[in-house]
Amino acid sequence: MRMNAIPVFYTDKLLADSGSLSPSANKPKYVVEAWRRAGLPIEWRTVSPATVEDLCLAHSREFVSSILAGTARNGFGNCRPDVARSLPFTTGAMLEAAGAALECGVACAPVSGFPHAGYSTAEMFCTFNGLMVTALKVLRTKRASSVLILDLDQHYGNGTDEIKRTLGINKEIINATFGRWFDNPSQDSQYLARLQLAVKQFPKFDLVLDQAGADLHIDDPLGGVLDSDQLRERDSIVFEVARGSGVPLVWNLAGGYQDPISKVVRIHTATMEECARAYVGSIKTGTLSAPRSKMAAVASGTKFGGRPRDDHQRGDDNLTTRSSGLVAAAMKGGAGDRI
Ligand SMILES: [Zn+2]
Repeated sequence: MRMNAIPVFYTDKLLADSGSLSPSANKPKYVVEAWRRAGLPIEWRTVSPATVEDLCLAHSREFVSSILAGTARNGFGNCRPDVARSLPFTTGAMLEAAGAALECGVACAPVSGFPHAGYSTAEMFCTFNGLMVTALKVLRTKRASSVLILDLDQHYGNGTDEIKRTLGINKEIINATFGRWFDNPSQDSQYLARLQLAVKQFPKFDLVLDQAGADLHIDDPLGGVLDSDQLRERDSIVFEVARGSGVPLVWNLAGGYQDPISKVVRIHTATMEECARAYVGSIKTGTLSAPRSKMAAVASGTKFGGRPRDDHQRGDDNLTTRSSGLVAAAMKGGAGDRI
């Protein structure tokens, strides 16, 4: 079934001045501005904040209280009240987008900052794990009995795994975190082949949460595996199969660290274009760029423009240095779920 527009849950209240090298807390502003300018078929909806009870579904009550009170460090490594104020809205956007997806098939929460947040830990620009809060909320309210977290960010979703372990969650929530298995441009074909297998499992789930990370791009200082056309193919695969199999899907932005931020915005815009192409059909804006024949070639294993990893690890040295250590630390522990 086709839709007239993609529901997107956004309010300026989910923005924050994070005082961090990561652009994530203000990125949604630039992304939604670009989507508006492009005239993409979007139905804009506002966002109610997640409640303390919602956040406590996936986190300890003490952690939630101290983060919101600004007495514990958030995922940006500070206690800024502005970040604390914004956090219930970022997770709130996911919660409301999930509700919309369960009703009409697909929805977007243009937010980031979830998969590295653990049960009582904030790190790597993530404070509350909106993925786990959302998955647990739909399970507890019996709107779903199984949720797939399809984490296509560059980085292993360690916090999601840790919350699952802490709460003893097994098959009700599956964390397919591709950052655990792929981290190099030489793996581009395997990545897309693995994704093709993963999406075949969609019919087993009542809801899919898709982290469409932009840091998976080969030019990202903290990435990457796929080039621009391959990222479009990633998104096209996910949206086409979700729509075709009738499985409700929510997607969010996740990471992206290229400078200037317009490069990151372009990747997120391509994701929205692929979403609209799959669910709405023809798009009037003429902003689509990737020829279908080229994307089909990518899907069949042909490589386009892959570059050696060393070549694209240049960029913001401070950000790279600071975060690579954190990412390495986060690689210890669980292994994600194979599907
Ligand atoms: Zn990432």
